Amino acid sequence: RRDGETILQVDRVTKQFRGLKALDDVSLTVAAGEIRGVVGPNGSGKTTLFNVISGLYKPTRGRVRFRDADRTGDAPYRLARAGLSRTFQNLRLFGDLTVEENILVARDRSRTWESWRYLLRPISVLRRDRELHRHARDVLDRYGLAEFAALAPKSLPYGIQRRVEIARAVAAGPALLLLDEPAAGLNGEEVRQLAEIVRSIRDSGITVIIIEHNMGLVMTLCERVTVLAGGRIIADGTPAEVARTPAVIEAYLGD
Ligand code: ADP
Repeated sequence: RRDGETILQVDRVTKQFRGLKALDDVSLTVAAGEIRGVVGPNGSGKTTLFNVISGLYKPTRGRVRFRDADRTGDAPYRLARAGLSRTFQNLRLFGDLTVEENILVARDRSRTWESWRYLLRPISVLRRDRELHRHARDVLDRYGLAEFAALAPKSLPYGIQRRVEIARAVAAGPALLLLDEPAAGLNGEEVRQLAEIVRSIRDSGITVIIIEHNMGLVMTLCERVTVLAGGRIIADGTPAEVARTPAVIEAYLGD
């Protein structure tokens, strides 16, 4: 897929919980190769948007297109197989598996459609196994996690656990990666490292959408920023453009 082509299109999506419209007629388009920021006050609908895009929530109205297919209401595992990967605001690692096993699982699950080969050709199982381990080692090296490979994530500092979660999401081989507040709980140095990691992910050909409260990070990292308030998009543009939008300034003063 060439940079600049549309990879994700959210078209007039509303998500209603009883009386509350968590998302209200939201439309946005993300181009392949972009790092898109999604910001907004607490409760403005950011995570709900990720949940709709990744299939956890079915929209009340509207459509979601991903890689030229209508994916509205598709189950999360189908979207994952189609090339969508995400992290969560609260870490969701397998705390009792090792770091390496967390990475292995991500890769393996993304390829379950190949399982028929396991039955037909036992030799390919071994080859596949070696391949998976080599790939996991590559990922661990790339994210500076090799020294933690044999340890359980829950025994590691929080900043490292965050990095494991991103590495696991990337290990699945996505075309689009959704990061939900990846800088939460990180110190200044870790935030700088995170910015480098996200840039390298994008440079490897993965489109990134990032929900983030750290405005400094959003402004330096993202080419475009979408601003939500009360379930509606109140601004969408370059960081400089949204920063001078009166509705944005107002929404943040009220937060
Ligand atoms: P943000 O991520 O911007 O903080 P959310 O998307 O988490 O906002 O929430 C937007 C609104 O939708 C909030 O008022 C929240 O309480 C509500 N909401 C989110 N998920 C649910 C749910 N599963 N059931 C009911 N209300 C929900």
